[in-house]
This record gives sequence, C-alpha cells and structure tokens, in this order.
Amino acid sequence: MSDEDRIFLSPEEALDAIRSDFNLYPPQTRLFLELGPLILGKRFSLVEDARNKGVWMSTPGRRPVHRMRKISPEALGNLLCRTLYTSCPSSADLAEICARVFETPARPGQNSGGQNGIWIHTGMENFKCGQCGRCCSQLDYHDTLSEADYRLWQEKGRNDILQWIGTTRKNGQVISRNIWMVPGTRNYTDTCPWLRKNKKSHSCECLIHDVKPEICRQYPGTRKHARMTGCPAVETLQGAAESSTFF
Ligand code: SF4
Ligand code: SF4
Repeated sequence: MSDEDRIFLSPEEALDAIRSDFNLYPPQTRLFLELGPLILGKRFSLVEDARNKGVWMSTPGRRPVHRMRKISPEALGNLLCRTLYTSCPSSADLAEICARVFETPARPGQNSGGQNGIWIHTGMENFKCGQCGRCCSQLDYHDTLSEADYRLWQEKGRNDILQWIGTTRKNGQVISRNIWMVPGTRNYTDTCPWLRKNKKSHSCECLIHDVKPEICRQYPGTRKHARMTGCPAVETLQGAAESSTFF
C-alpha cells in the first residue's frame, strides 16, 4: 500500500479527527452505541430507544445498582468525546475506535520520524470522480479556505480568483477566508464561480483545477466521507477496503 492510501495521525490528531467526524454529520446513534463500551467501559450500558430516537443509559451508582436515564444521541456523542479526551486511551484502543468511526482499517504504529500514532487506510485507491459537480454546488465549504491557498493565489497573481474571497477579521486579525463571495459584497455566490457544466457530456469541470483550494483537492477524504456527503462515486469504492491488505 502506498503512503497516498493511508494517513498517519498522532494521538492528538486522531482525537481531533474523531471529534470532527461527530460534529460533521447528524448524530450517528448506531456508531455511538458501538463505541460506548469501548470508551465508557463496561460499567455503563446503553440501549437504543429507536421509537423515540434516543438512548437509555445505565450509570453505576447506589442500589438499585443501575439507574436508567435517557440521553439524546447528541449528548451521548458529546459524552463519548469528552471521555475520550480525558481518558487517554492506549494506541490499540484508539486504533480500534478510529477503525469504527472512519469505517476503515486502522492500526497503531510509528511514522518515519519515530512518532507513535495511528495509521488509517483511506480506502480511496480505486476512487473515480464522476465529475457530477455535486460536491462543488451542494457542500458547505465556505469558511474552509486555507491560508496556504490564499498565499499561493497571491504569489501567482491570481486576482481573478482573489476577488471572490471574503476575509473575516476580529480586532484587526484574520479569522477566516471565505469562498466564494460575490465581489464587492458579503454575499456568498449560489454556486462556485469556477464550476462549468459541459452540455454535451453532462459532466462538470473546474476552471481552476490546477490551483483549486485544498478542501476541493482533498474531497472526499475517506469512503465514509464520500458516503455521508452523498458523493455518487462512492460506488466505485465498494469493497475496496475489505479486499485490500493493510500493511
Ligand atoms: S460529488 Fe463525487 S463524483 Fe461528484 S464531482 Fe464531487 S467527488 Fe466527483
Ligand atoms: S474550485 Fe473547482 S473543485 Fe472547488 S468547488 Fe469550485 S469547481 Fe469545485
């Protein structure tokens, strides 16, 4: 497997990635129920209340031994996150949690610099973008422009691109760069100004493909990301992770 098909995360980066995953998508009740025993330990038990879209959680305490209380999936996700950050799980446990969260093989290991962390298989080696343009027109990526993208366009003198960028400042400091904004306004465009549809082939193309933002270059980062955000090309990946050898 090439390094392009796997990513290395330090334990801190792995925790941040798990938290981002929990925040990025609607509450993943089934996943949270699976992770409960791994993160909270066996002293707690969790039972899904599918009819009321909730979860019952038993907490250890005085007799009666277990008292059940209802917890929303959002609150359960927050509890799991808080517990993860304070409990410092072992590398093996963190790898298992990553494997379940990102739905892909994950192993503890070291990077080339000898740092301990988690290797995560992206499962993206067979991905073939269908150029449908859905991600360009429907995903919320407005405040994700990196400073590196901005600097690159400045260095290349790409004022045609820079004019579509908004900058948010607080006390004179740049807080975020925002794409794509109608020049001279604080209004976002309806869709990316660089997206063009080829009427003959019905496929879409990016007019700034060579210098498109990092967020566009990286999408979708994993099979789960593709599936959860509705990328139709996720079908090109089915079975890829299961059939490949990890390490
Ligand atoms: S949604 Fe998926 S298939 Fe469509 S353009 Fe984006 S990456 Fe390609
Ligand atoms: S810059 Fe290119 S890849 Fe990014 S949203 Fe626009 S058209 Fe899509």
